[in-house]
Amino acid sequence: MKVAKFGGSSLADSFQFEKVIDIVKSDLNRKVIIVSAPGRRSSCDTKITDLFYMWKSKARQGISCDEIYCTIIERYSEIVEGLGLKLDIKAEIDRIQHVIQNLKEGTSSYAASRGEYLSAKIMAEALGYDFVDAVECIRFNELGGSRLVEDDEHNIRELIGNRSVVIPGFYGCRLHCSNEIITFSRGGSDLTGAIIAGALKADVYENWTDVSGLLRCDPRIVSGPPVISSVTYRELRELAYMGAEVFHPEAMFPVQKAEVPTNIRNTNDPDNPGTLISSSLPHAGTRDVITGIAGRKGFTIITIEKALMNQEIGFARKVLSVLEDLDISFEHMPGGIDTLSIVIDQKILGERQDKLIRKIRDFVHCDRIRVSSNIAMIAIVGEHLFDDAQITSRIFCALTRLKIKCSLINQGSSELSMIIGVQDNRYEEAILSIYSEFLYQRSYK
Ligand code: ASP
Repeated sequence: MKVAKFGGSSLADSFQFEKVIDIVKSDLNRKVIIVSAPGRRSSCDTKITDLFYMWKSKARQGISCDEIYCTIIERYSEIVEGLGLKLDIKAEIDRIQHVIQNLKEGTSSYAASRGEYLSAKIMAEALGYDFVDAVECIRFNELGGSRLVEDDEHNIRELIGNRSVVIPGFYGCRLHCSNEIITFSRGGSDLTGAIIAGALKADVYENWTDVSGLLRCDPRIVSGPPVISSVTYRELRELAYMGAEVFHPEAMFPVQKAEVPTNIRNTNDPDNPGTLISSSLPHAGTRDVITGIAGRKGFTIITIEKALMNQEIGFARKVLSVLEDLDISFEHMPGGIDTLSIVIDQKILGERQDKLIRKIRDFVHCDRIRVSSNIAMIAIVGEHLFDDAQITSRIFCALTRLKIKCSLINQGSSELSMIIGVQDNRYEEAILSIYSEFLYQRSYK
């Protein structure tokens, strides 16, 4: 059995809905369908979810919402009429209007969730599948704010059983309080699909979007990088952390835990096999050593030096407690015998750099603190990266040829990535040189 989730671009209008219906009907195993709200039809369009947020915000301020209401009716009517369905979508939207405008439970989360709710109603009708509301299967803890109820898998299995169903993504409700809607963060329908696929132990979780998978490298830097045909969840985590995202950053965890593979597919190119993400390598031995390269600019490295640091018990803890006091998270912490470096995202550090340095100096009585800003981090990722002793030397030869200096080298303890820090202004060249060394003009399966 397959769980298939379709994103907003796959459902932007009746034409896109048709494509989704064809995809679902072409494989009888696609029995559990998760849908997003209709996304943008063109770059100047507005996502339905954003229209619902605007609607609630205007209603709260007592501003007329007629225009938004009409736009939403128009968007959904086009879909329902285009598909030739009899569904009275206006009546549904009028009911939503009543809740948003008048009732306590018409919160902005409720409003935002209605895009998915209406999509699922239409898709269930078009496919002849049962509609299952997300409030019946995605539930959040009463105490823990928006923490998901962890033992809900049994409930999901009971509820869905062997049925063919359509479930709206992106939201659920507070446990025992089905009219209190809670949404995930933006793009959260990916997470709904992953939770359902994990709970049902699906054969595969298909995530249908508008790209044919995860690319080996940023296409803004390397022209036409190929799609990665297979990647492990561990590799994906490393690449996604560095910005190479194909779906919601948290969505991989429920499927990884349940050992359900995820297949990223393109609704506009359904014959393309896309990217398969799994716990182990399906084609071990036939893959390139480097699965992908990703990176981000804008880091600061703070290096603390103190003679005999290695003998001072609790030194690192003291440094970390300063970060904790200032509520600053860090990305990496490579160290030497008498040095400790902390890599911090400049956006997180903000204006607090001087304060942080002062506090560290006062607290740990170090000999010297050095600061390097505007550093880009590049992750070179592959499950078998360190099996081949030549890989590391080839990476550094590629950088040396262009006289690119490394400010930091960190071999992740996960042993599947190497992180290299270079100056922000050499970032693109560095990526390009490593890419050319390993992946350029290769044929990929
Ligand atoms: N519709 C929601 C959003 O725009 C959730 C989703 O598409 O996954 O973020």
